[in-house]
Amino acid sequence: MEMGFVRGKLVKNLLSAPLRDPVKYSLMGYEVSLRRAEAALVEVVPDDPQLPQAADDAHTEANDDAPVATNIHSREREITVALIGNPNCGKTSLFNFASGAQEHVGNYSGVTVDAKVGYMTHGGYRIKVVDLPGTYSLAAYSPEELYVRRYLRDETPDVIINVVATSNLERNLYLTTDLIDMDRSMVIALNMYDELRELGCKLDYELLGAMVGVPMVPTVSKTGQGIKELFDTVIRVYEGREPAVRHVHISLGDDIEAAVRSLKEIIKANRSMLPQFSPRYLAIKFLECDSEVEEQLKGQPEYEQLCEIRTEARRQVEELRNEDVTAAIASEKYGYIDGALAETMTGERQTSTRPTAIIDAFVTNRLFGIPLFLGVMLTVFWLTFAVGQYPMGWIEAGVEYLGNLASELLPPGPFTSLLVDGVIGGVGAVIVFLPNILILYACISFMEDSGYMARAAFIMDKTMHRIGLHGKSFIPLIMGFGCNVPAVMATRAIESRTSRLITILINPFMSCSARLPIFVLMIGTFFSAHAALLFFALYALGVLAAVITARLLRRYVWKTDETPFVMELPPYRVPTPKAIVRHTWAKGKEYLKKMGGIILVACVIVWALDYFPHHDEEVPSEVVTNSATIDPTHDSFLEMIGKAVNPVMEPLGLHWRATVATIAGIPAKEIVVSTLGVLYAGNDTLDDTALGGRLSTSDFTPASALSFLVFVLLYCPCIATLTAIGKETGRRRYVLFSALYNTLLAWLAAFLTYRLALLLT
Ligand code: GDP
Ligand code: MG
Repeated sequence: MEMGFVRGKLVKNLLSAPLRDPVKYSLMGYEVSLRRAEAALVEVVPDDPQLPQAADDAHTEANDDAPVATNIHSREREITVALIGNPNCGKTSLFNFASGAQEHVGNYSGVTVDAKVGYMTHGGYRIKVVDLPGTYSLAAYSPEELYVRRYLRDETPDVIINVVATSNLERNLYLTTDLIDMDRSMVIALNMYDELRELGCKLDYELLGAMVGVPMVPTVSKTGQGIKELFDTVIRVYEGREPAVRHVHISLGDDIEAAVRSLKEIIKANRSMLPQFSPRYLAIKFLECDSEVEEQLKGQPEYEQLCEIRTEARRQVEELRNEDVTAAIASEKYGYIDGALAETMTGERQTSTRPTAIIDAFVTNRLFGIPLFLGVMLTVFWLTFAVGQYPMGWIEAGVEYLGNLASELLPPGPFTSLLVDGVIGGVGAVIVFLPNILILYACISFMEDSGYMARAAFIMDKTMHRIGLHGKSFIPLIMGFGCNVPAVMATRAIESRTSRLITILINPFMSCSARLPIFVLMIGTFFSAHAALLFFALYALGVLAAVITARLLRRYVWKTDETPFVMELPPYRVPTPKAIVRHTWAKGKEYLKKMGGIILVACVIVWALDYFPHHDEEVPSEVVTNSATIDPTHDSFLEMIGKAVNPVMEPLGLHWRATVATIAGIPAKEIVVSTLGVLYAGNDTLDDTALGGRLSTSDFTPASALSFLVFVLLYCPCIATLTAIGKETGRRRYVLFSALYNTLLAWLAAFLTYRLALLLT
C-alpha cells in the first residue's frame, strides 16, 4: 500500500522479465516490479466512477494538539538534522554535498542501510546531519522503516529534512503525510527539481507548502543547487521564525477521524505514553494495529480501553467502507496528496519515462534480455581480468624490482629475509590484484549509478527464486567472483533478512580472484591439456556448492522469506564520472587497508613460522624437496604444524606441504601460492613456471592435485571475509558456521574427488 497500490490508482502492466517473472508495472508515474504470485494479491478492478474524491482545503483542519516534546539540546548552537525520504530520492547525495562526506550514492534502492553522520556549519550553527536509510512509510514493516522510526523516537532530531523526489511527488509525499502526523519540525527538500523542470512541469511549491504546513525548498543535490536555501530554512524553522510552518491534520474521513479522536483523548490524558510522538500519530498507528506502538502502549493502565475502542471502530469502518482500516487510511492520504497536487502542479504530472521505456524495451526484452545481461557480465569479467592483466604486470615488475633491490642493498640475515620474503613478497603477491579490484568496482558503480543493477536483479529474480533467494542476491554473488569481502557488504541492498543471511553465507563459494593464481598454478602444471574445461568445472562446482547450501538453509533453517520482491526500478540516469571515481577509490582504499593490516601481519607470521626455529644453515634444495631425508629437528614451525594436522588431510591425498599451504591461506587465499613457493623451492625467488616444474616432480599426483584444488575452492573463507560476515550479520555464530561448514564441505568434496580420481586412473 505504501508504494501506491491503493484503491483508485491506475496500474499499467508494462512488461515481464525474460523468464516471464517478475512483471514490471507502472503506477503513479514510477515503475515497480512484482512477482506474479505477489501481483495476484493486488486486486485490480475496471475503472470505477466511485473513485476517492480529490481532496480540497476542507481536508485540513487547524491544529488542536499540544506541541510534541522534543529534546532540549543543552549545547546551544548545535542542531541535529535528520534526512528522511524514499529510497533513491537523493538523500545521500544531499548529505554528501552538505557535509562534504563521500558516502555511497547509487541509482538503486537500499544503498544506505544505517545512519551516517556528518557535520557542517551554517548560519552560525554547527549542524549534525544524519543520513537515514530510505523508507516508503513509517509502518513497522521493513527493517528500514523500523530503523527510521526508532531513530525518531530515541534521538529526536531538532529538524527533519524530508527529502522527496520531485519527479515522483505523488508517492514520495505519502511518507510526508506520516511525518505530518508525527508533528515534528520539518522542512521538505524538493530534490531532483531539475528533472521536474526538464519535463516542463510547474509546481507552485509555496502554495503546496502552505497547504501542508511545511516549508518547501527546491534542491538539486547532484549539483548542490538550493542546499544553502534549504539549510537557511532549517535554521528559520529551528528558531521558530518560519512563517510557512503550521500544523495541519490530514483528514481521514469522518468515521476514522472519530475513532482517532477518541483514542487520542485517552493517549493525551496520559502523557507518559511515548512523549516523543504526537498523540494523533500514536492514535492512527494504534488504529492500524501497528505492532511497535501496541508493544509500547501495552504497559499502560488504559490499554484495555484503547483496545475496546479500536475493535469497535475497526468494525464500523470496515462495515462502512468495505475495506480494511489500514487500506482506508492509505487511500485517504493518497486522496489528500492527489488533491493538493491537482491544485499546485501544472503540466504532465508524471515522469514521462520515455528514454527509460525505450532502453528497457531492449534490456528486459524476452529475447535479448538474458543474452544482453550475460554479455554485460562477460564484459565486466573481461575488463576485470583481461584488461586488468596489463597494470597487474606493471605492479608485479615493480614488486620484483623492489625485492631484488632490497636483497642487493641489505646484508643477508633475518631482517632482510623478513623484508624481502615476508613483507615485499607476501604483500606484493596480493597488491597485484588492486587493478582488477578497481576495474571491477568501476563497472559495478557504473551499473549501479546508471540503473542497470536494478534490471539485473529484475531479470535474475526468477532464477534466484528457485533457490529461495531474491533477484537482488544475484549482484553480490557475481561480485563474489572478484572478492567476497565487498560482495558480503553489497548484500545490504537486500531487504529480507533471511535472504540476506543466505546470500552472505553462500558467497564464499563464489570463487574469488585470490583463488585464481592457485588454479592457474595447479591446472597449468597437471592438467594443461584440459585447462579451460577444468577452470569452468571448478567455478561451476563452487556455484553448485552455493546452490545446495542455499537450498539446505531454506529448507531447514529459514523456511520462509518474509519480504516479497517489491523493487522500484528507477529511471536510467547518466552516471557522473566523479561519483564513479569516488566509489572506485573508496573500494580501492578498503582493499589497501586490508593489505596494510591483516595480510601484512599474516605474511610476517607465515614467514616467521617458516624461518624459525632453525635457520642458521643453508639446506640444499634437493634435500628440501624430499622430506623423508630431512632430520625432524630441522623442521620449521610451519612444517611441524603441517605434519601435526596432516593425518586429517591424508584421506584427501594431501601431503603436509599442501596442508601447510591451506592453513597459511586462511588469512588470505593469496598466501597459498606463495607458501607453496616457499615450501617447494627452498628460498628461491618466486617463479611460477619453475614452481610448476618442481610441483610436477613432487609429492603431488594428478589425483591429489585435483583434490587440493577442490579443497582450496571450498574451504574456510579468508579472515577478511569472515570479518565482513561478522560485521554484516552482527552474530559470531554465522562466522563460526561459515568457517566450519565450508571446511567440512570442502573436506567431503575433496575426499570424493580424490577417491573418484584414484578409481579412474
Ligand atoms: P538515496 O537512496 O536517497 O540516498 O539517493 P542517492 O543519493 O543514492 O541518489 C540516487 C540517484 O539519484 C543517484 O543516481 C543520484 O546521482 C541521483 N540524484 C540525486 N540527486 C539528484 C538531483 O537533484 N537531480 C538528479 N537529476 N539526480 C539526482
Ligand atoms: Mg542513500
